[in-house]
Amino acid sequence: MSGVLVVMEQRGGKWNRMSFEALAAGQQLAAKLGVECSAAVMGGPGVDALATKLTSKKLAKAYTVQHDLLMDYTADGYIAALQQLIEHAGPDYILFPHTYQVRDFAPALATRFKQVLISDVIAIGHDSVGSAGPIFVRQLFQGRLNGNYRHAASGPCFVSVQAGTFRGDAVEEGTASAESFSPQLTPDQLRSKPGEPFREAAQTVDLSSAPVIVSVGRGIGEQENLGIVEELAQALGAELAASRPICDNGWLPMERQVGSSGQTVAPKLYLAVGISGAIQHLVGMKGSKSILAINKDKNAPIFEVADYGVVGDLFEIVPELTKAIQAAKA
Ligand SMILES: Cc1cc2nc3c(=O)[nH]c(=O)nc-3n(C[C@H](O)[C@H](O)[C@H](O)COP(=O)(O)OP(=O)(O)OC[C@H]3O[C@@H](n4cnc5c(N)ncnc54)[C@H](O)[C@@H]3O)c2cc1C
Repeated sequence: MSGVLVVMEQRGGKWNRMSFEALAAGQQLAAKLGVECSAAVMGGPGVDALATKLTSKKLAKAYTVQHDLLMDYTADGYIAALQQLIEHAGPDYILFPHTYQVRDFAPALATRFKQVLISDVIAIGHDSVGSAGPIFVRQLFQGRLNGNYRHAASGPCFVSVQAGTFRGDAVEEGTASAESFSPQLTPDQLRSKPGEPFREAAQTVDLSSAPVIVSVGRGIGEQENLGIVEELAQALGAELAASRPICDNGWLPMERQVGSSGQTVAPKLYLAVGISGAIQHLVGMKGSKSILAINKDKNAPIFEVADYGVVGDLFEIVPELTKAIQAAKA
């Protein structure tokens, strides 16, 4: 096979939804290049049950890479198994969803082929596909700049696709022939033991039905400063939400996280306070009817989706805004 291979991600028999975004990216790249697109799913015994989901897509092959030692994720196991699959199938482009797991193993896999991983791609320049190949766009400096990358080396090109860049529901239906691939793996190849997997945000607070949301980001600086946004939320009768770093730090519960690995919201008003506007955050809130952003950096990407932008220090603006709202309500 020369063409595109998309490596899907599953855990415990459940798909990671970003896999289908990567699959859509793979199909579109293959169509533009005029080559075939295939997909692979890896895991322990029973993972073949997922292959039926792939055989109903417009793909050349749907590979099931199955082995007892792939039951739980380990970087060593995945790298060894995928190296063998890539040597067997011979794709020119290998696409992954840009998940935590992929970030863990894909750079080392690319190195096995003397390549680098073009990671976290937000667009593929299909129009410029020519003899020089497609352009892969990555964000730099927290989204302030876009960089164009082209695969120049001989050998396969490894790319991971950022969440929300392609639509999972754009995957083309069709048929694919199923192929089982049994990698050669031995326990001594696995140098690490799997620990507790990363827990995605639980959804016990339903932010999706909130009409007004005040969402706070790393610009707040310290947990002790959260009081000023809590007061603003209270004055507005809003739910409090946050970007990922705030929840990762444990400053607010995970269930209040908005974004690709948190909740998707579409309130009448979304007030983003000290949030830069990384794509993983934007995919969770850009459907809001009205977006107001407060950020001291006038070039912050959040202003590209904001209906109203306030450039300034949140520590000056938020308390004044709260006072004005309280006064208007009195
Ligand atoms: C696989 C994956 C999944 C992810 N999922 C999510 C997700 O679901 N949700 C999510 O949010 N992120 C997610 N992320 C993380 C994401 O890439 C960004 O790192 C994150 O959104 C940045 O959060 P932030 O905007 O709060 O922080 P930063 O990017 O650090 O931005 C802080 C902003 O505050 C501004 N600021 C600083 N001080 C002040 C001040 N005094 N007044 C006003 N403005 C100020 C700065 O100018 C800056 O723009 C994910 C990442 C990956 C790789």
